[in-house]
Amino acid sequence: MAGYTPMILQYLAIKEEAKDAFLFFRLGDFYEMFFDDAIAASRELEITLTGREGGGEQKIPMCGVPYHSAENYISRLVEKGHKVAICEQVEDPSAAKGVVRREIVRIITPGTVMESKSLEGKTNNFIAAVVREGGMLGLSACDLSTGELYVTSFPEQLEALIDEINVYQPAELVGDRELLDNVQAASVWNRQLPMTAREPMAEERLVEQYGKAELSNLSGSRLRAVSVLTGYLDETQKRSLGHVRTITAYEPNQYMILDHYTRRNLELTETVRDRNKKGSLLWLLDRTQTSMGARLLRRWIDKPLLSSAAVEARLDAVETLYLDLILREDIRGELQPIYDLERLVGRVAFGNANGRDLNALRSSLRRIPRLTALCEQSGSKVLQDVIAGTDDCADLADLIETVLVDEPPVSIREGGLIRVGYDAYLDQLREASMNGKKWLAELERQEREATGIKSLKIGYNKVFGYYLEVSKANINMLPEGRYERKQTLANAERYVTPELKEKERLILEAEDKMVDLEYERFIELRDQLALHLHRLQQAAAIIAELDVYQSLAAVSAERRFSRPRVNEGYDLLIEEGKHPVVEAMMDGTPFIANGTSLQKGEQWMLLITGPNMAGKSTYMRQVALISIMAQIGCFVPAKSAVIPLIDRIFTRIGAADDLIGGQSTFMVEMKDIQIMTEKATANSLVIIDELGRGTSTGEGMAIAQAVIEYVHHHIGCKALVSTHFHELAHLEESLPSLTNARMAVEESGDNVTFLRKLIPGAASTSYGIYCAQLAGLPQSIIGRAYELLDNSGVVTSKAAVEPNAASRNQNLYTAPSTSFTKRENKTESVAEHRGIVQLSIFDEPAAALETETVRRKASPKAEQLAEQLRKLDLFNLTPMQAMQWLNEMKSKL
Ligand code: ADP
Repeated sequence: MAGYTPMILQYLAIKEEAKDAFLFFRLGDFYEMFFDDAIAASRELEITLTGREGGGEQKIPMCGVPYHSAENYISRLVEKGHKVAICEQVEDPSAAKGVVRREIVRIITPGTVMESKSLEGKTNNFIAAVVREGGMLGLSACDLSTGELYVTSFPEQLEALIDEINVYQPAELVGDRELLDNVQAASVWNRQLPMTAREPMAEERLVEQYGKAELSNLSGSRLRAVSVLTGYLDETQKRSLGHVRTITAYEPNQYMILDHYTRRNLELTETVRDRNKKGSLLWLLDRTQTSMGARLLRRWIDKPLLSSAAVEARLDAVETLYLDLILREDIRGELQPIYDLERLVGRVAFGNANGRDLNALRSSLRRIPRLTALCEQSGSKVLQDVIAGTDDCADLADLIETVLVDEPPVSIREGGLIRVGYDAYLDQLREASMNGKKWLAELERQEREATGIKSLKIGYNKVFGYYLEVSKANINMLPEGRYERKQTLANAERYVTPELKEKERLILEAEDKMVDLEYERFIELRDQLALHLHRLQQAAAIIAELDVYQSLAAVSAERRFSRPRVNEGYDLLIEEGKHPVVEAMMDGTPFIANGTSLQKGEQWMLLITGPNMAGKSTYMRQVALISIMAQIGCFVPAKSAVIPLIDRIFTRIGAADDLIGGQSTFMVEMKDIQIMTEKATANSLVIIDELGRGTSTGEGMAIAQAVIEYVHHHIGCKALVSTHFHELAHLEESLPSLTNARMAVEESGDNVTFLRKLIPGAASTSYGIYCAQLAGLPQSIIGRAYELLDNSGVVTSKAAVEPNAASRNQNLYTAPSTSFTKRENKTESVAEHRGIVQLSIFDEPAAALETETVRRKASPKAEQLAEQLRKLDLFNLTPMQAMQWLNEMKSKL
């Protein structure tokens, strides 16, 4: 390192403290980066890489960004998962001896951004810590922008931890190195999560942050998780975090457990296709008016409740607002102009709130009295309870109003913030500066008169201060002596006079003092507010809750949902249930309602068969969604619904994107099923779509049957299973709690119409070949496929396909009057086409009637195809593979 200049040596020393971050090193009006940081940043930010002499043999790579536009660059780096360490000059350069002292003032990381540009209003930005201690795994999650902090723990089991991490969708993870590695290895996220290993912080510092009382309930892995997380926040933010004071601890079994795939499959907060909210349950239910409300709604959807009393309390509030349209509209109106109080409070605590933020805080607080009055006067005990004891923080709103002007500038360092009348000395200075300006105007008038130069004017610039400007054409009119030339422009000269110099000193001094004093007063105000963070946070929480209630009520009323009866029992009964999102996304076509009845002592497992596209998975999802909606306290899309508290929902629903995965898809399915067998209780809900696909027919069917039997005998939980294997219908005979159901289909001629109606009994075919026909395969292939199917004996016996338990199930569904055409009819109708089938394959009308040997000679291509078809092992094909095979054959024609 010998030979480097003192500044570069200082840079290198500071860089040691932030090796894993881009070091933004303040040099005058720029943040500069050097060495490898510069090379990487120039690439990431597409800015020019230059070099700088630094005393070494070669120039040092360097690039920089202007300090006033740094926020953009920082947020771009952070969004890409990087950390940025901000290094400022911490002494006045003019007073410094040698190199100006510099320090890292903050490290901005993906999980700790506070800047509104990088934060999405409607979603939290969590950072989570994962630790292991005393045989337990601890998880703590914090949103630094709002000050929320949660902590929980589980017996050592990685899946449980990952499911919980997934609830928070953190932007960053910290914690024990080994655990982080395990999480990384088992990770289910598409993106790389930034991870940093960290040890717990010193105990005294932890107590300083939260106080003994707040920590007294924490121990073991929970305490460690909070300590590691807080230590990291402390180290990166380097300031007091007054808004992070309340630790919310919970047991994982306080909420319904939903694993990653289930959340994804049910499209709770985002859709499978993209991370877009549109088409998700959240999208449907979100009518919130404030960002706080939107974030709370998301958290509710992420964590359905497991206490019927708590669910009922929410439902009561929703019902009140559901029934009272005027009250609801009034509340919505009051909520609408409320700013993001939680984040404003966060900025106050963090010390980066500006004048506009404080005014936003003020105007939002001003809405509270009217909101509480609306609830108070509603006569509804529930709403009165919600707002009971709300502190409207009127004193704080008054304080802001007394101190700040109505429209302060963005910057807090350039004055213009403090209201006239608030500070006597400030008012004096203001007057001095105003008077000075009046005096200047007077001077300008006098000088014009004295010189006779009408265009003479007084101006100001940062370098020369105040000056008198005279155009070149007029300078000969100036008298000698008094005017001292300061600056020459192309067609004008600028002068100063002794009087001007004297006044300038007074004016500038007053302005400097004014700006400093305004800043001081502003900081005092902010600090004053920071003493009341907890009050402000509580007010924000109540507003958020009210907002969620009105949102759920608004959607429920608009879509005519009904109040579910949530209980601690077993039976799940839904009358005329609908899939809320599919219905909302449909353009005009009516959604067909279907009932569900899963009862102890009767049937609680449904085996659903029916062709693709018939509506099986929509139906199964709708049952899960209705349960979740009920348990978050929302009305449900059904005529009536009795919902037992469901502790966990397992879904295995093939998404289009993993249909092609073959073996690995099968492995994933089996892994999910393994977790289900281990974790499901009698109070869980299991949903499996197309059980057993992804392996050969024989094996798939065998596994499907074994899994169904296991759930039936050993778990006893409510389950909806769909399968391609209509051959499994016979299970209804051996499993008393299982019943067959199918999606009704109407056939006329060659057409099949989906009626979307769930009716008793099993489907007699999976209509795979019909699907192939829809996909446009030649009639020749379709016909031949039916022929093979008949010969192979795959068609099940009549006994197996007849809904033998139909009579006992008759009351389960509101069966439509439409008749359901059986597979046998289908076979017949296609058989009529068989002559044509062969005609088109062999291109030779006569051949259709001849023997196989004759046909072989007739066309080598046909012979090849027939040979391949003959060799095809139908029993070892998945429906998907069959489709692919048919497609391949088609391409050879
Ligand atoms: P399957 O699982 O049987 O292949 P899906 O559940 O995916 O079928 O349904 C296919 C399509 O049918 C859905 O995308 C939806 O548009 C429509 N659909 C499903 N159920 C209904 C219903 N009950 N009413 C109206 N349309 C429905």
